[in-house]
Amino acid sequence: VKEIGLPERSVVTTCAYCGVGCTFRAELRGEQLVRMVPYKDGKANRGHSCVKGRFAYGYANHQDRITSPMVRDSIDQPWREVTWEEALEFTSNKIKGIKEQHGAGALGGITSSRCTNEETFLVQKLIRSVFGANNVDTCARVCHSPTGYGLKTTFGTSAGTQDFDSVQHTDVALVIGANPTDGHPVFASRLKKRLREGAKLIVIDPRRIDLVRTPHVEAAHHLPLQPGTNVAVLTAMAHVIVTEGLENRKFIEERCEVDAYEEWARFVSDERHSPETLEPVTRVPADDLRAAARLYATGGNGAIYYGLGVTEHSQGSSTVMAIANLAMVTGNIGRKGVGVNPLRGQNNVQGACDMGSFPHELPGYRHLSDSVTREMFEKDWGVSLDPNPGLRINNMLDAAVDGTFKAIYIQGEDILQSDPNTQHVADGLSAMDCVIVHDLFLNETANYAHVFLPGSTFLEKNGTFTNAERRIQPVRKVMEPANGYEDWEVTQLLANALGAEWQYEHPSEILDEIARLTGSFAGVSWDMLQERGSVQWPVNETHPDGSPVMHMEGFVRGKGLFVVTDYVPTDEKTGPRFPLLLTTGRILSQYNVGAQTRRTANTVWHEEDLLEMHPADAENRGLKDGDWTKLASRTGETTLRVKVTDRVAPGVVYTTFHHPATQANVVTTDYSDWATNCPEYKVTAVQVMPSNGP
Ligand code: SF4
Repeated sequence: VKEIGLPERSVVTTCAYCGVGCTFRAELRGEQLVRMVPYKDGKANRGHSCVKGRFAYGYANHQDRITSPMVRDSIDQPWREVTWEEALEFTSNKIKGIKEQHGAGALGGITSSRCTNEETFLVQKLIRSVFGANNVDTCARVCHSPTGYGLKTTFGTSAGTQDFDSVQHTDVALVIGANPTDGHPVFASRLKKRLREGAKLIVIDPRRIDLVRTPHVEAAHHLPLQPGTNVAVLTAMAHVIVTEGLENRKFIEERCEVDAYEEWARFVSDERHSPETLEPVTRVPADDLRAAARLYATGGNGAIYYGLGVTEHSQGSSTVMAIANLAMVTGNIGRKGVGVNPLRGQNNVQGACDMGSFPHELPGYRHLSDSVTREMFEKDWGVSLDPNPGLRINNMLDAAVDGTFKAIYIQGEDILQSDPNTQHVADGLSAMDCVIVHDLFLNETANYAHVFLPGSTFLEKNGTFTNAERRIQPVRKVMEPANGYEDWEVTQLLANALGAEWQYEHPSEILDEIARLTGSFAGVSWDMLQERGSVQWPVNETHPDGSPVMHMEGFVRGKGLFVVTDYVPTDEKTGPRFPLLLTTGRILSQYNVGAQTRRTANTVWHEEDLLEMHPADAENRGLKDGDWTKLASRTGETTLRVKVTDRVAPGVVYTTFHHPATQANVVTTDYSDWATNCPEYKVTAVQVMPSNGP
C-alpha cells in the first residue's frame, strides 16, 4: 500500500491455494492489485487467512509468466513464439494427424485441481467428446483418488461429510495423516480454538506435528506409527471398540448393512488384530492405542480429519474405508460435530473430481457403463461417447513408452515434478508426438512439450471452486488475463479448432450445463452464488439451500457399508542398502511444487527442501544440522541438507517437495494404491549419506 497507494475498488474472490477455500477482498488501485484482505463474510474462513492466501499472489505478475503461445516440432528445438491462431492450427493439425493414424485411444489429457469447475468440466468434455477418448485423468489421482473410492464404497458419495463449522460441536478430534497447521492453516485455527475450549485431540502421524503440542493445546494421544501401517492401527482401534463393547448398536442396526457389519466385526475381533499383536508392526504402544480408541468411541462427538498421509499409500483406499468403518461403528456420522473429513490439498480438488475428471466416470461420479447417464450426456453434447473407461495417467505414460499413446493435453499441472518416479514420467512424455502444456510458467513438464499455451491465474478469471466441505464458491475476475484469454476460453478455442462448435460466452453458461447434467449441482447457478456467496452440494429440490452435513437421515447409498480392510504391508521394504523410511509433506509458506509460492515474496521463508532426521540416525552417519546429504532410493537419488530433529522417530526421515532443485520425487517409487493407483509417496526405503552438495 505504501508503494502503490490506497485502494480504489475491490473484488470478492476465492483463494487458489488450499482446500479450505478462504474468501478474500482483492483491493485494487487502477489495474494494480494492492492487497488481499480476508473477507469476514466468507463462510469457510470468517475473516481469517494464512500467509499464502494473504501475501503469495505476486506470481501473477512475475517476470517468468509466459503470455504468448509457443510451439516447436521436436523437444530438442528452441521454442517459437506464435500467434494464438498459429498455435491452435499447429496443435489441431497434430491432434487430427495422430487421431487419423493411431485412433482416438492415442489421445488424452489431464485436468487441474487449480482450475475452476467450469474449466475442468470443459477439459473432460474436450477429451471425451472431441478427442473421442475417455483418457482423462486429474492431479487428484496423486492425492485424493482413494478418498473418492473409499467414501463412495462405504457411504455412497465421494466427499467429506461435514462443514468446517461442525468442528465447534466436536468433543474428540482424530487427526490422521494430516498436518493442518501447515497444510490447512485456517481450519487448524478453528480446530485449535475448539481444543482450547476443552475438546480432546488424538493425532496419528509418524511425525510429531505442531498440533501434538502447541501453545494451550496438547494432544491427549499421539500415536507415532511406522509409515505404511495406517490400516493396522485403525484395525487395532476397531478391535478395541468391538471387543470392549463400545460399538453403537442402535446406529449400526438402523443405519448400516448389518450382515456386512457382522462379518467386519468378526474380522476385527480376531486376536491377530489386537493392539498388542500389532505393536511390533505399528510400533505404537498398545496401551496408548487402546486409550485412544476408548476416547474416540466414548468421548462424545468424534470427528475424523485426514490428509495425504492416509491416501498416498499402497493401501490408501483401504485406509479411507477403515476410517469410515470406525466412524460408523461408533455412530459418528450424520450430525454436527462428527464425520469423516478429508482435508483436500488443492483449492479445487473436490471440484475436479466432481466434474468427471476420471477415466471411468462422467461428472457427478456416474460410471460410463450407466447407459441412462451416458445417453443423457450424448444427447446434450450431440456426440456418441465410448462406454469403456479410458487410461489413468500412469497407464497413459506406460502406453506412450509402448508406442500406443501419442498426445496429451495437460492443464495446470507439472507432472514431471508432482508425479512419482520422475524418470518414468520423463520416459513417457519424451515418447509422445505431441505434448501440450497449458500453464502459467515454463514448468519442468514443458521441457518435454511441443506446444505451450499460456494460462491465466485465478485473479484473471470467472468461475467457481469447490472446497473441502463441498462449498461451491465464486471466483471473480480481478484483472484482465495477461495472455488475453481465460483458461476455459483456450479449451473452447482448441475444441473449435478441432471441429466442435462450442459457443460459451461466460462461465455461467458452463455452470448451467453442469447443473443440467449433474444432480448434486442441480440447484446451482451463477446468479444464485452472487446472491448467497456460496452453497454446499448437494443442492437440489430436496436440499434447495445446500447440505452442510451429509448422511443425516440415511447414507447416500442407502445403508452404510462396513468393508473388511486387511492390513497388507507395502512391497517397499527397508533392508541393508536402504535402511530408512522416507515420508514427505509440505510447509506453511510453500505450496506443492512451489510454482506459485516460489515466485512470491514468501520465498524468503523457506528457500530449500530439508531432510529431517532423528539425532541418533544423524550421529550414526556423522551428520550434523545443515550438512549436505545424498538421499538415495532404489529409484534415484538427490541432494539436500539435513535438519537434525526428534520430530521424526529413529529410522524415519522426512522432506518436502517444493523445490525443483531437490526433485524429491526422483526417489519415490512406482508403488501405488491397489484401487486407484494413487502413488505411495509416503513410504520410500532410502539411505542417507554425507555429501559435498549438488
Ligand atoms: Fe488460502 Fe488455504 Fe491459506 Fe485459506 S488457509 S488463505 S484457502 S491457503
